[in-house]
Amino acid sequence: MSKRLRNSEVCADCSVPEPRWASVNRGVLICDECCSVHRSLGRHSSQVRHLTHTPWAPTQLQMVQTLYNNGANSIWEHCLLDPASVMSGKRKANPQDKVHPNKTEFIKAKYQMLAFVHRMPCRDDDSFTAKDLSKQLHSSVRTGNLETCLRLLSLGAQANFFDPEKGNTPLHVAAKAGQVSQAELLTVYGADPGAPDSNAKTPINYARQAGYNDLADRLVEIQYELTDRLAFYLCGRKPNHKTGQHFIVPQMADSSLDLSELAKAAKKKLQSLSNHLFEELAMDVFDEVDRRETDAVWLATQNHSTLVTETTVVPFLPVNPEYSSTRNQGRQKLARFNAHEFATLVIDILSDSKRRQLGNSTTSLKGKVLEDNERTTSDTCRYNGD
Ligand SMILES: [Zn+2]
Repeated sequence: MSKRLRNSEVCADCSVPEPRWASVNRGVLICDECCSVHRSLGRHSSQVRHLTHTPWAPTQLQMVQTLYNNGANSIWEHCLLDPASVMSGKRKANPQDKVHPNKTEFIKAKYQMLAFVHRMPCRDDDSFTAKDLSKQLHSSVRTGNLETCLRLLSLGAQANFFDPEKGNTPLHVAAKAGQVSQAELLTVYGADPGAPDSNAKTPINYARQAGYNDLADRLVEIQYELTDRLAFYLCGRKPNHKTGQHFIVPQMADSSLDLSELAKAAKKKLQSLSNHLFEELAMDVFDEVDRRETDAVWLATQNHSTLVTETTVVPFLPVNPEYSSTRNQGRQKLARFNAHEFATLVIDILSDSKRRQLGNSTTSLKGKVLEDNERTTSDTCRYNGD
């Protein structure tokens, strides 16, 4: 990002100059104060990343900046642009407002309630509307107009919508057309780079076939985003997908604790989960890794400022209303795991992800030998890439 550009940027929520955070799924840049509110809403509302202290895929950062510079914020504040709203007393937050309650209330209304988003004229059948929006998304991703796609997604278009007539998803279309930013946006909204079309070909296949090799490589990376993030959290390394390496499973150097009866029982329970429940648990652990890492960046960049107070800390995963209360409680319990316990859980998730994907048995001779050989080392964690 150029220095000149950044100096003219302001927080999308309160207009404080030089915002240092981004909300990836909203396509906006935000200040530290507003970021603390975004974090308290949870990743289902806003996925925040620090502009300089969080590692970014360059094309994802590019996507967010394009959205922001092209005025994506007006999607979330559409109704406030109407002069009549000023008369009614509705307004956005300003730099002088207090975090609590002013900025918090505004940000909740803006992103959680979508109170200022332009609604489509009401129709009787909601499912028809969603299908209609998804079809529009399907044709829009061919072009470079990112804001249109974000607007459609914000209104309920489905990123994984399978068009029965065309026989593919929006991501197939974007990949074929080499629309890198569109592909980044779609995948933030859950589009699957490995989804087959009616010819059993994936978006990755089409990007590769059309000669967009960087995009194809990036889509592979996105496909393994969950396990890559977990591995990176533990040992600061990611697998090299270009060489066909898709998993890194670190091991605790001090593995005496993971061999306890309790840990063995937990591991066995993990292995017996259905694929669906396992995926849910892995996603919950991913969210917890994100919470812990973002917390660390947050603390490192606050420099003991007054913003670090109890009200700006996110002590456990915020409730996601789309999940059951049992799942939400389980998600919040993850915060109680100490560093060692959490690392053990993350390793178990990684090795079971690999087992499920490759169909390998975790008690294979190779795995056993490696574990025994590496237990004596003093590193905090080990990895055997393959
Ligand atoms: Zn702000």
